Amino acid sequence: MIIWTGTAVKRHTLRSVILENGIVRTMEPSLPTARGLAVAGEWIAGGVGTHETALASPDRVDLGGRCLLPGFTDSHVHFPTWAMAQREVRLEDTRSLDEALARVHAALPDVRPGTWLLGRGWRSGDWQPQVEPTKELLDEFAGETPVALMARDSHSIWLNSAALTRANGDLQVPGGVVELNEHGEPTGVLREESCWHFRDAYIETTDDEYVEAMRGAIKLANARGVTAVHDKDGWLGALRFWQRLESEGALTLRVWQSLPAEKAPELQAVDVQSGLGSPLLRLGYLKAFMDGTLGSQTARMLDGSGVQITSREELAELIRAGARAGFPVAVHAIGDLANREALDAFEETRDEWHPRGLRQRIEHAQLLTAEDVGRFAKLGVAASVQFSHPPSDRDLADRFWGDLDSEPYAFRSLLDSGAVLVNGSDAPIEELDPLAGIRAGVLRTLDDRPAWHPEQALTVEEALEATCVTPAWLSGDEHRRGKLLPGYYADLVVLDRDPLACEPEELAEVKVVATMLGGAWTHNPPPW
Ligand SMILES: [Zn+2]
Repeated sequence: MIIWTGTAVKRHTLRSVILENGIVRTMEPSLPTARGLAVAGEWIAGGVGTHETALASPDRVDLGGRCLLPGFTDSHVHFPTWAMAQREVRLEDTRSLDEALARVHAALPDVRPGTWLLGRGWRSGDWQPQVEPTKELLDEFAGETPVALMARDSHSIWLNSAALTRANGDLQVPGGVVELNEHGEPTGVLREESCWHFRDAYIETTDDEYVEAMRGAIKLANARGVTAVHDKDGWLGALRFWQRLESEGALTLRVWQSLPAEKAPELQAVDVQSGLGSPLLRLGYLKAFMDGTLGSQTARMLDGSGVQITSREELAELIRAGARAGFPVAVHAIGDLANREALDAFEETRDEWHPRGLRQRIEHAQLLTAEDVGRFAKLGVAASVQFSHPPSDRDLADRFWGDLDSEPYAFRSLLDSGAVLVNGSDAPIEELDPLAGIRAGVLRTLDDRPAWHPEQALTVEEALEATCVTPAWLSGDEHRRGKLLPGYYADLVVLDRDPLACEPEELAEVKVVATMLGGAWTHNPPPW
């Protein structure tokens, strides 16, 4: 039996294992199921009964009727941020400002002297009564301890006075919002570029802290069936954190890494292209932002509201620079105008990137006009969406977008138009948990309320396709990963039952039993 031990040696020892007596969902339409799977070294050798005699004394694992699927990819995760968030004060489910304050107050005694009290997950739209947070509310109990609380969408931050002083007035930056009170002083809430500038310039987290947090978070991701991630935190140094983890044998995920879009000329100068790296860690794509978010009311809308982070012309330039350097672009676009301008920019530059085979993507694609839905397929730009967002955003979306003609979270329309649809969590904004995402994509509800926009719901098969198969295409791995076929990496997840044979109400019961990466168990090796 091959278990991930923290050394790379075992990955090179050709061992074989036969997983038998289960339901293998290959995700290949011409050969959808098998009863077993043979693994030789890092690779799938074949279905049971075909190649097993060719394998030298294989281990045998009785699946006991359990289900095998290709390992899950989370196509949109801020992994180091999510890893750190496991240790922060979490405010996601607070129903009032007082509840949020009580939770922050309770965390104060655990803060080491001289360090920050960090938290995340608040959304003032969820609070009753409706109020905006201020620094004074934190000052009452936090004293000299700097407090920084990131909003749920990571586009706003709530600070106390001790934290604000660190910036010494350096708060306003282009594309940023500094909320002011009636005396013209900062309220303690910064949005968009001002939020990120503050976070990057004044909140210090060491590399060691990130790497340590990621060590545990990788195990947690493996336990949830994840074998690959498309990370979004290139801007904060994710690449060097992953590299450290890989060199010590602790990287048990395949990583497709983002880098900030402004880096294109530097990448070109050193002649580095997308795809460079190892089987576990590769440079993937450039990341840019068109606008803000629904929750912060900074999404850029056709009605003229919202915040512009990158203009259509600027994005076109970034796409061109990316194409010259050999990198695709992933651009965050939430509002209907942001999405339209992103599509326009991909359209006007298509002659420059399409012949190079670059797999471009729009992240979130949350609000689309009917005429823009079909443009993703036509241009060959993937829609990188989050199935868990609609049921969690439904109240805000009804409040802010309810009267608009544009379609929110139009996953079914995108699929039907022929678009490549991939699913991610956007963790830490939602939890990194692919099974929860699949459930949300199918049910479009998380509570006892009826499905929200049920006409946009997906089948279990479609949700799995977007979680296992299409993400591998986006990272250029469609002949190596994403299906359980001979010659593909043995990256797989064992579930306690077959989600494709479940009634919708039973989906919540489906559990990850074990996870394998490149032929080695990364979570809960058998026997089970
Ligand atoms: Zn994100």
